[in-house]
Amino acid sequence: MPNVIDTDAIVIGAGPVGLFQVFQLGLLGVQAHVVDVLPQAGGQCIALYPDKPIYDVPGVPRCTGRELVAQLLEQAAPFLRLHDEGALSHNVHLGHLVARLTPQDGCYELTTDRGLALCAPLVFVAAGAGAFVPKTLNIEALQGAPTPPTGLYHHLPEAGVMPPWAGADLVVHGGGDEALSAVLSVLHAPDEHRPARLCLLHRRDQFQADAAMNEQVREAMAQGRLELIIGMPVDAGVADGALQWLDVLGPDGQTQRPPVQHLLIQLGMSPKLGPLTQWGMDLARKQVTVSAATFESSLAGVYAVGDINTYPGKKRLLLCGFHEATLAAHDAAAKLHPDAPQHLLYTTTSPLLHTRLGVSS
Ligand SMILES: Cc1cc2nc3c(=O)[nH]c(=O)nc-3n(C[C@H](O)[C@H](O)[C@H](O)COP(=O)(O)OP(=O)(O)OC[C@H]3O[C@@H](n4cnc5c(N)ncnc54)[C@H](O)[C@@H]3O)c2cc1C
Repeated sequence: MPNVIDTDAIVIGAGPVGLFQVFQLGLLGVQAHVVDVLPQAGGQCIALYPDKPIYDVPGVPRCTGRELVAQLLEQAAPFLRLHDEGALSHNVHLGHLVARLTPQDGCYELTTDRGLALCAPLVFVAAGAGAFVPKTLNIEALQGAPTPPTGLYHHLPEAGVMPPWAGADLVVHGGGDEALSAVLSVLHAPDEHRPARLCLLHRRDQFQADAAMNEQVREAMAQGRLELIIGMPVDAGVADGALQWLDVLGPDGQTQRPPVQHLLIQLGMSPKLGPLTQWGMDLARKQVTVSAATFESSLAGVYAVGDINTYPGKKRLLLCGFHEATLAAHDAAAKLHPDAPQHLLYTTTSPLLHTRLGVSS
């Protein structure tokens, strides 16, 4: 058995609502750990529309998905325990798929696909439309193994981390926003992080991406900093756990085997409800049914907030998720400390909240 981390609350999903949930719990003195399968916090805002503008967050006339997440992270920072370098640590577990949630002596024990185990009396399911998993190639040799072979990737490394393709050949596969954005990140990386040769592999010589990114990618191609391979990957070879070769079917019906030391697949993300359906909560149309007063599910102490829940009048909007997280936190804090007075405190005037936030009164 792995070591189990005991905490007050577990938040499943580090999307916008999960991040705000951690903040609201922190204000009420409830310590939370947050888990997400993605390597970055931000849920749909980062995975689906990082550079698109949002106009309906109260008090924020316009911000992109990425900017909103940066603000949510900054707001929740007093309760996220950050490294000096800004990397998330301690109570933020990224790259973990929550596989199981089981009741255990008045608590819930959560285990992830990578062996992390957490135990808490309170659980907040902020799982959106499900765990975001990258779309991958429908090639038998690349499927079935629990982890992708060496040389095959679905995510860029975190900023500042040396990529495995530094100084080697890298092929990025895709023709949408994700692929072009990845290509530009690779091109703009520091010299020592760049591959020796960079190719974009797409089924045709046209991209379905943002006009500005399109222009920059075309410019890089014209300057010889990026090659385009037109075709569809149809087969691949894996030996000793590493990608060996990739066959690409060209528009002329010919198959070619371009040199591929490292392959970064950028075909977008799709949400998978997956394990969540096995945790015992009542569901309606693949969503968790909750009380509209407390957002508690049919399991005592398990709340569902944000896009994952349903109740009469539910709207899948950020604003609604933030409201749900706030009320759920208050209900949960009262359950955790039933004898403590439950006064409503304002962040503007409460010395207690100032202490928790680490600001001066
Ligand atoms: C294109 C687009 C534009 C939008 N524009 C707006 C807008 O203008 N205004 C607005 O209010 N809303 C907008 N929305 C909706 C808004 O993005 C969602 O309401 C919001 O993202 C919901 O947040 P969430 O935290 O509940 O879920 P998500 O953002 O979906 O985050 C859930 C997280 O949980 C993780 N997760 C799920 N299951 C597991 C598991 N088993 N293990 C580990 N991790 C798991 C997922 O990987 C994900 O990161 C838009 C949505 C889209 C797609």
